[in-house]
Amino acid sequence: MQGTPVNIIVGSHIWVEDPEVSWIDGKVTKINGQEVEVQTSDGRQVAANLANVYPKDEDAPAGGVDDMTKLSYLHEPGVLQNLSLRYQLNEIYTYTGSILIAINPFQRLPHLYDGHMMEQYKGAPFGELSPHVFAIADVAFRAMINEGKSNSILVSGESGAGKTETTKMLMQYLAFLGGRKGTEGRTVEQQVLESNPVLEAFGNAKTVRNNNSSRFGKFVEIQFDKHGRISGAAIRTYLLERSRVCQVSDPERNYHCFYLLCAAPQEEIEKYKLGHPKTFRYLNQSNCYELVGISDAQEYLATRRAMDVVGISQKEQDAIFRVVASILHLGNVEFAKGKEIDSSVLKDDKSKFHLQTVAELLIFRFDLFIYFFRFLRCDLNALEDAMLKRVMVTPEEVIKRSLDPDGAAVSRDGLAKTIYSRLFDWLVDKINNSIGQDPNSKCLIGVLDIYGFESFKSNSFEQFCINFTNEKLQQHFNQHVFKMEQEEYTKEEIDWSYIEFVDNQDVLDLIEKKPGGIIALLDEACMFPKSTHETFSQKLYQTFKSHKRFIKPKLSRTDFTVAHYAGEVQYQSDQFLDKNKDYVVPEHQDLICASKCSFVAGLFPPIPEESTKSSNKSSKFSSIGSRFKLQLQQLMDTLNSTEPHYIRCVKPNNQLKPAIFENVNIMQQLRCGGVLEAIRISCAGYPTRKSFYEFLNRFSLLAPEVLEGNTDEKIACKKLLEKLGLAGAQNGKTKIFLRAGQMAELDARRALK
Ligand code: ATP
Ligand code: MG
Repeated sequence: MQGTPVNIIVGSHIWVEDPEVSWIDGKVTKINGQEVEVQTSDGRQVAANLANVYPKDEDAPAGGVDDMTKLSYLHEPGVLQNLSLRYQLNEIYTYTGSILIAINPFQRLPHLYDGHMMEQYKGAPFGELSPHVFAIADVAFRAMINEGKSNSILVSGESGAGKTETTKMLMQYLAFLGGRKGTEGRTVEQQVLESNPVLEAFGNAKTVRNNNSSRFGKFVEIQFDKHGRISGAAIRTYLLERSRVCQVSDPERNYHCFYLLCAAPQEEIEKYKLGHPKTFRYLNQSNCYELVGISDAQEYLATRRAMDVVGISQKEQDAIFRVVASILHLGNVEFAKGKEIDSSVLKDDKSKFHLQTVAELLIFRFDLFIYFFRFLRCDLNALEDAMLKRVMVTPEEVIKRSLDPDGAAVSRDGLAKTIYSRLFDWLVDKINNSIGQDPNSKCLIGVLDIYGFESFKSNSFEQFCINFTNEKLQQHFNQHVFKMEQEEYTKEEIDWSYIEFVDNQDVLDLIEKKPGGIIALLDEACMFPKSTHETFSQKLYQTFKSHKRFIKPKLSRTDFTVAHYAGEVQYQSDQFLDKNKDYVVPEHQDLICASKCSFVAGLFPPIPEESTKSSNKSSKFSSIGSRFKLQLQQLMDTLNSTEPHYIRCVKPNNQLKPAIFENVNIMQQLRCGGVLEAIRISCAGYPTRKSFYEFLNRFSLLAPEVLEGNTDEKIACKKLLEKLGLAGAQNGKTKIFLRAGQMAELDARRALK
């Protein structure tokens, strides 16, 4: 941040650190060497180190400034104060150079996004109107049209910060710019927009952090033709949270689609043998069934309509919901101990009923059920076998081993999770096929809505992958901010000598280096039958003993800590191996692959012969971690070929309520989102930029003679700078560039006048 203030004297207005509100303003009452005493604005007397207090800009406009780079003193407290002032006025958007910071208003602000607003932002020069998501989309669109280059908009922030809402507004605005006005029917842009409710129904859920939390990452690529009209789109999704299908903790919910289906018209409820969500194990682990202000029955119909628009046929829709219903029934199949040791049987008639329903819905052609009743029996037996037994292949023989009730339950949940994630992938593929790609499109705008940095009490493999993503994006962000800064200096024709910025390449190496990174070691552990999470952790401890970014926590034998750019995160390794294995039990695969319903069978295409026969273990083994790493690399390659724009969403409070601005919480997010890092990079160069006019206006009284007989602001400024003797400050073509702390120094001199 900004260098140590050298201009602080008794009476100076300053910011001092405070555990409650992050920074509080006050007045210096005493200075004793490096220690200052401060009378805070809430009437307390506190002591602080001179190096930790920052000057407060007494001339800052009451309503804040719309771009942080316009702040006279660019430092943490200044940034926070500015955002807070603006938020109180419902100004939820603020720029930091070209980065947009968006603070979730937690209330509808319809005027902010209506047609009139869209018209206003269309083609308006950047910075002329108030900061807005539309302005970012407009810049991206114009840059694409004018320079023929692809652009991308990266939206990030923690859960509930407003990424998905922001993404939807971006897409709406791009559809407004690139849509075919007046066209009836299903246009590409309508399909793109309607893909959102479909994906949200199947990929979003209520969590403690957000009532409509996306449990997957998403990159939407909107393609444009040479006239700037939307001509195609592609959606890529990342890491759907699979565990939620079978495990929900109070007061969260499972994926929306389950509740929607339970609120479907009676006819469907009967067809799928459904009832209140309370009656299903996968839903009743939590007491939350309804969302405030949302009708699942209406949402069900709305989802069906959206499915129509994106080109999912009625027949396919029926099949989709049949699969959803069968997962609920599957969850209600319970097991009890069998007669033989370590074997199990279906617990009771209820379990039999649900298993039979699964067989009807999933395996058997539902509509032909009555006619082929005979065949159902064998399907049912096969299904029961697949639940209760596991085939073991040894060099000598093939044996069927029974599973104990716990093993059978794990196997059942595994099947449910696999079916659900395949269904989700099917939806994404279908939407992509239906919208269609434009092979002739040269330009695209990509919009990334991906989970932000996560650090909870307990962190597992999912958090590890999410934080890995954020490390990647952070590196991309830093490089971009760095480049933008340099470009600005070049444009203004000023000299600059730069300090190096701290790169996070070392964390990335720790995670993804091949061989030897954490992901590679995890894959190795997964391939080795005797590995446990203990042996995996030991291997990590050994390998990264002296790695700067790796820490072995003192009080644990299997946890490990990674020092991420946004802070340290301690991971619990116990489920890493299981969660990393991308493995479908062959019995499940065979069973569903043989389903008489072509839709269901299609979710489990037969595995090609060669890959099952292959003796080479590593070629057969596929891991979630490595696949994700590859997907992420492809995403980075795409992003690197585009001109990026950044939107940082911020969640002002954890109560999800309007008008509450929690300083400490927000500061932490600015840090994780790289906003402070961007400011730091900027501070390493020339963080303060003032127009010649502003500069003269504020400081000419320090040397009034420079104005004499001088009408050219630029020349007057040059003279003024010489007189003031500021080391390193420079005259650009249109502005003055000051080094960190110099503005405060000048203000202090002005105060003495
Ligand atoms: P997650 O990572 O959990 O998916 P997210 O960042 O995508 O979170 P959103 O779902 O976009 O968060 O936003 C959470 C909620 O905040 C929304 O459901 C909405 O109520 C509110 N919200 C977000 N942005 C806005 C906005 N611009 N105007 C009004 N309300 C908003
Ligand atoms: Mg979201």
